[in-house]
Amino acid sequence: MEFAIGVDLGGTNLRVAAVDDAGRLLEKRVMATDAASRGYPQVLDVLSDAIRLLAQAYRDRGLLRGVGVGVPGILDARTGILRDSPTLPGWRDVPVREALEGRLGTRIILDNDANVAAVGEHWCGAGRGHPDLCILTLGTGIGGAIVFGGQPWRGKSGMAGEIGHLPLRPDEGPPCACGGRGCLQQYASASAVRRMVLEAVMQGRAPSLAPLLEGNPGDIALRTWELATAGDAPACEVFRQVGVALGIALAGLVNVLNLPLYVVGGGVSCAWDLFAPALFAELRRRSFVYAATGDTTRVVRAEMPHDAGLYGAARLAFLNNAG
Ligand SMILES: [Zn+2]
Repeated sequence: MEFAIGVDLGGTNLRVAAVDDAGRLLEKRVMATDAASRGYPQVLDVLSDAIRLLAQAYRDRGLLRGVGVGVPGILDARTGILRDSPTLPGWRDVPVREALEGRLGTRIILDNDANVAAVGEHWCGAGRGHPDLCILTLGTGIGGAIVFGGQPWRGKSGMAGEIGHLPLRPDEGPPCACGGRGCLQQYASASAVRRMVLEAVMQGRAPSLAPLLEGNPGDIALRTWELATAGDAPACEVFRQVGVALGIALAGLVNVLNLPLYVVGGGVSCAWDLFAPALFAELRRRSFVYAATGDTTRVVRAEMPHDAGLYGAARLAFLNNAG
């Protein structure tokens, strides 16, 4: 047996997993990132310890082929320096790869978290057997990746696929961490769910949502989904708005890319049943390419909304240490 360690360095949680070469999860460990209260050297210390422990736990059972890490934010893939990260406060120009390689004494494969999730979903999830696809990951922010021939298309500087920053309402929309306004991320991420819940409560439209406002965006989105599933109308309205925004963005993507498959993943995709009707209504209304291509353009829910990044990071470690 061969295995690799995959890491998802998220804004909320640090997740580390051992995955074998057949795409089976051997073990997963989850810790709070606490990026706001801990500096990056301390977070990377905790992460290195977790990687080391997991590698030791499986050393007798198989060969460790490598370590892959998905990081959120603007990553210079060439140098391994994280330029900026909206979800990791204070992480600016952090040499993540060098710092981890120094701590662990081994080569680290580093990539943007959206690319990593796309590779995971392509390897073991809804993208299996599809060389070309586009993936949206709805988390604290929104990650995007376009996969051609089984590989993420990185663009000139490794920054392609920033689908979360497609402008939907560039003039009157909420300000975005990218410097723009009204990006898709402001309407269909967990942070967007929190904002919409907060606005509905402040405007007195949704007293039922007031108890939801404590916690991180992911927790708030999850509790809003639970309430919506139980039939709460204001909570349902939040996800209808998520669907409208996704439908508009996907209409543009389908028109531009004409790919056969679009996958919607990340934590917020748990609410697929609630937002999908509005998503498809907008998509049909706004994309002539979608209307013309009928059943050959598919928009589906991810099969691994939470763990795609772990599988993808492990997969990249296998691919980059082959032979
Ligand atoms: Zn933006």
